[in-house]
Amino acid sequence: MNRRIKRIDRDLFQGYRTFECPVEVLSLRGKIPALLALNLFLRACNRSEHSNFEGRVRFPALDASLARKMNVNLSSIGSAYRCLERRKLVTRTRNRSIAGEYGTTEVSVCNPRTGQTLLNSPDRADLLTANTVSSFEVPVEYLEHLNHIPQSSARAVLIAAIYLANEAQAETFDVARCHWRKTSSVCEKSFNHAVKMLGKVQRVQHGKKKIKVPKLLRYNGGTLILLDPQTGKPSQREPLHRKMSIDFELMSASDWERVISEVRKEEFFTKANGWTSTTKHNFCPFCHYPACFNLNFAEQAFHCFKCHEGGKLGFLLKHLTGLNTMPEVADYIVQILRSPIETEVAV
Ligand SMILES: [Zn+2]
Repeated sequence: MNRRIKRIDRDLFQGYRTFECPVEVLSLRGKIPALLALNLFLRACNRSEHSNFEGRVRFPALDASLARKMNVNLSSIGSAYRCLERRKLVTRTRNRSIAGEYGTTEVSVCNPRTGQTLLNSPDRADLLTANTVSSFEVPVEYLEHLNHIPQSSARAVLIAAIYLANEAQAETFDVARCHWRKTSSVCEKSFNHAVKMLGKVQRVQHGKKKIKVPKLLRYNGGTLILLDPQTGKPSQREPLHRKMSIDFELMSASDWERVISEVRKEEFFTKANGWTSTTKHNFCPFCHYPACFNLNFAEQAFHCFKCHEGGKLGFLLKHLTGLNTMPEVADYIVQILRSPIETEVAV
């Protein structure tokens, strides 16, 4: 081992939110299908982490929002899907409504070795490991930057670096240049250019905006360091597991009703079976169809009949507020519950 490297006792990607991605993504050479696969597996892992259902992991395709996120056009999303379907990484199904017209398209993630769709088990948060799919961990923050990097070769080189960090179980590790290049499957010239680019701050055009891509790695004397995108230095983050400011399990049905009503600016009527009744004014926040979305405050659950999105209210709230982590959602809930109840003054 290189003596200059200080051995630090810390977990890989400590302080980052991460998700699992199948190793097959490496062979997609950073092209649009690779980026799409990363974004879909992030969704799948999120979907599995916050729900308590047993069964296959599926979610609405929402192609337009993915295209915006990845800054590509809709037709490239379509061809990227076909590539992933050929490689058995995903399958798509179309829902047909009772009237016969096509509804939302749903995506399921698969085990690329067998083509079987992945099953969620409520007691396992790590979806791919639970389904014995060979995978590696990717920090969500890195994926956000991957979505902004326009060159596929630079994306391939960064994905390979993240994979090698998983192998080494460290964000600072020794790796031969040729091994890294082979892992990324790009040619020598593009590789050298990509390593240089990823070590610098870049400004790139993303849609109509100019976006800053920070320094993401440094390679010096055979040592590769994945840098903290926030500081541009080797990461010194504290472990992520911040205590939640409220225990969701201990929240009452009326607490949940108050919080969700406040966020949705909507009143609910709970039926005898515990589920709220659906009206044509209540839209599903996932597929945006009316009259298909209902909630169960006592069981802290929600469900949509149209897109089959469902799970815990904590997950729903995370989606509605756009917050990144569950501790942030917990803080948000505490804030609402502590604020005085607004009562309408009777005239
Ligand atoms: Zn829906």
